[in-house]
Amino acid sequence: MVAVEEGHEHVSPATSGVPEVAVIGYALANLLGRAGIETRVHERCTEPYPLPRACHLDAEIMRIFQNIGLGDEMAALVEPSRGMLFVDADGRPLFDYEDFVRDPILGWHEDYVFIQPELDAVLRAGVDRFDCVDVRLGAEVADWREVPARWVVACDGAAGTSRPRAGIDFVDLGYDQRWLVVDVMLSRPVELPGIICQVCDPKRPATFVPSARDHRRWEFRLAPGESDEQAADPENVWQLLAPWLQPGDGELVRAAVYDFHATVAETWRHGRLLLAGDAAHQMPPFMGQGMCSGIRDAANLAWKLQAVLHNGAPEGLLDSYEAERRPHVERCIELSIEAGRLLDEPAFPEPDSDDGERWSRLPPLSGLFQQSAAPAPFPIGHQARQPTVVLEGERLLLDDLAGPGWYLVSDGPAGGAGLARVVDATRLGDPDGWLARLLGGSAAVLIRPDRYVYGTASTTADVAALLADARRSVGLESA
Ligand SMILES: Cc1cc2nc3c(=O)[nH]c(=O)nc-3n(C[C@H](O)[C@H](O)[C@H](O)COP(=O)(O)OP(=O)(O)OC[C@H]3O[C@@H](n4cnc5c(N)ncnc54)[C@H](O)[C@@H]3O)c2cc1C
Repeated sequence: MVAVEEGHEHVSPATSGVPEVAVIGYALANLLGRAGIETRVHERCTEPYPLPRACHLDAEIMRIFQNIGLGDEMAALVEPSRGMLFVDADGRPLFDYEDFVRDPILGWHEDYVFIQPELDAVLRAGVDRFDCVDVRLGAEVADWREVPARWVVACDGAAGTSRPRAGIDFVDLGYDQRWLVVDVMLSRPVELPGIICQVCDPKRPATFVPSARDHRRWEFRLAPGESDEQAADPENVWQLLAPWLQPGDGELVRAAVYDFHATVAETWRHGRLLLAGDAAHQMPPFMGQGMCSGIRDAANLAWKLQAVLHNGAPEGLLDSYEAERRPHVERCIELSIEAGRLLDEPAFPEPDSDDGERWSRLPPLSGLFQQSAAPAPFPIGHQARQPTVVLEGERLLLDDLAGPGWYLVSDGPAGGAGLARVVDATRLGDPDGWLARLLGGSAAVLIRPDRYVYGTASTTADVAALLADARRSVGLESA
């Protein structure tokens, strides 16, 4: 039985010895490798950074890992997280950030915790799968303008030199606080909350994250007069930890002061240079979205680079990267600042809707999506539901069945107009009824390579127009 019809155009890359894309930093390498793009990674560090910074990621990021073929390995390392609770100085609950549990509609739980060096190691090893990716470790780029490649993507972090060398400033969104970040590896069982806690203590706002396995994270806001040295002194750190645990309960693996900022680069493209991750934006960590936003940048950029380099789309398509990602990041920054503000002004946050079709508080994307005079149907611009489906007795997640690239889920046979693989829903088992919910009564749903819903067709007769609209939006001629 054929449930998925091939539909992709592929133009082979010219092999001139000059990479199609150079990446400074590691972030994009797996996505570009998966897309078959000749890539050179320049990374100045020979080893992954040994200490955790990020410890939270979300369902969309797990889906991206799944789509680069690392879902199972990552699933073995992460643990589902139970949300976020605001408590007073004595640990008494004030309010839940959300008072409901969402269904794992992307195929993954809404939130996870993890130990970053473990994840970084899987991502680095993952790159070795791709012959088209050439990794240069210990290779510090002095000036991106001297890097040979058709496109250069700077994922060189907030302090990276590519952005300033391109004359791009950070726009300051008005958030500057100093926080002490403390990581502990527990050496014996200690009774600690199993949920992320934001401590609304006017004297010492703090965050506690029950990270994966034995890793626990605390963050304490510093008062203006406190020096970095004073704050990070082990004696001071154990004093701050005293309400939670005692020396002997665990090993202090890091106590460092970080400046939490909110900034966004004024433009994300300068000729052949594209900025991604912290090189393009920074946010305070209260929503755990800094790294997640960078990985979303990478997923958005990867398919567009592939379309331009291999599928005949015009370079202008790459301008949609900033147009789509920047408003989304700015909203993440606002949400992060808002969550941090609640530490000072505890007040029940505006409740989010539990409408069953949203997977998180994050906003939809707007940009290259089906345009219609009528208000867009709800899922357009949102991550598509990812149901478990059954094919010939085997249960599998829909993205795994569909494969990389665009896919069209149709309520019966259809063509993909040279753009999309077609997944005929009538040939699949739908054990949870979620495939039907993805279709939502329409004849077809078109899903972009980054798994956002591009658009829907109400009737079979509208499918061709939907595909033609998508081809136009990425700058491809009609099929
Ligand atoms: C305390 C704290 C907690 C956080 N918690 C979370 C969280 O829970 N969830 C979350 O999603 N985010 C979190 N973040 C944010 C997250 O850590 C960052 O957003 C993320 O690490 C940024 O990744 P990046 O690859 O863009 O930049 P970086 O991690 O800074 O990586 C830049 C890379 O580029 C390389 N590089 C730089 N310059 C050059 C050069 N000239 N040549 C070659 N290589 C170069 C560097 O060696 C490095 O490997 C947190 C941050 C902090 C500080």
